[in-house]
Amino acid sequence: MSDTRPKVRLCVEHPLGPAQSVPLARDQAHYLFNVMRLKPGDAVALFNGRDGEWRAEVAEAGKKGGTLTCSLQTAPQLDPPDLWLLFAPVKKARTDFIVEKAAEMGAARILPVQTGFTNSERIRRDRLQAHAVEAAEQCGGTFVPEVADLARLDQVLDAWPEDRRLMFCDEAEVGAGLALDAAGPGPWAILVGPEGGFTEAERARLRRLPFVTTVSLGPRILRADTAAVAAMTLWQDRLGDWR
Ligand code: SAM
Repeated sequence: MSDTRPKVRLCVEHPLGPAQSVPLARDQAHYLFNVMRLKPGDAVALFNGRDGEWRAEVAEAGKKGGTLTCSLQTAPQLDPPDLWLLFAPVKKARTDFIVEKAAEMGAARILPVQTGFTNSERIRRDRLQAHAVEAAEQCGGTFVPEVADLARLDQVLDAWPEDRRLMFCDEAEVGAGLALDAAGPGPWAILVGPEGGFTEAERARLRRLPFVTTVSLGPRILRADTAAVAAMTLWQDRLGDWR
């Protein structure tokens, strides 16, 4: 990271721009002034998912709040490719891991979906969104993917946008080639199932859908979190912004 890009990064809601004053919420002030021990005049890298990254100096530092003043744009806004990750929630720590890796690896949207064999009946969306924010702060990104509310897979498929292709990771498809290249760039999504995999009915429906490309992630059965990372790696390398 260049020396104009401060090491401490913070995601804010507030607009960013030249000489823009940015008020801090209590938890942000606690993080900057108590945890990171920053003082007036110290610099922070701010981003809000829209205006790129801005160097901002601490103008006021208080126990319950404070303000920063933007001085210099240090990175342009860089949006990820138009890729959604649909995954069936698994155990809490692994679900957290999937969201964190999806944010780091360039997902534009993260959709937890309930499938026939999904064990989790509900998710803490706000907590998962916080993981996505932390991942963006850590990886130097200027974009934060939205984590959607948990929705039933069949309902998501019923309302599927017709221009978006879906990479269906099917553990039953052992050894099939990866036909992503043939489908080409554009809006995409990846679907990874739960520990118990997909039901036969889900598999049959998905395979019939015109926007679905079924892929294998190799001859071994991967854990859902491993599969999410593997699938995103494949997609990013073939069709995304890793080249
Ligand atoms: N149904 C499997 C079983 O019971 O052994 C386990 C499913 S696996 C733990 C969870 C998800 O990861 C699958 O539904 C699939 O989306 C993906 N996955 C795991 N291994 C895969 C592979 N070799 N090829 C394609 N997808 C895979």
